[in-house]
Amino acid sequence: MERRKVFVEIYGVYKLNYATLDNHFARRVICGSCGSPFGRKVWNSTNEIHRRSVWICNKRYVVKGEKGCQNRHIDDKVLYQTFINIFNAIIENKDYFIY
Ligand SMILES: [Zn+2]
Repeated sequence: MERRKVFVEIYGVYKLNYATLDNHFARRVICGSCGSPFGRKVWNSTNEIHRRSVWICNKRYVVKGEKGCQNRHIDDKVLYQTFINIFNAIIENKDYFIY
């Protein structure tokens, strides 16, 4: 609880339990450049073939038409696969991570 409280305070997220069943990473992906949370957006929402979900810094487009934070987006599938890879590495090396 203390760790979560500190996380919420440091990153200015409303609350950590914002994540839902179809959006596990909400408020948990933090921008390495500016420290703001990333949000999930749908690109090409009208074109089914090119439609994809990406995660992008919430400070990227604060003012419409102007780029804010310069950090790049990450594809939803890449984020999920990266999480799975890291999670599996932790499980395989759990003695190292459990203290
Ligand atoms: Zn950022």
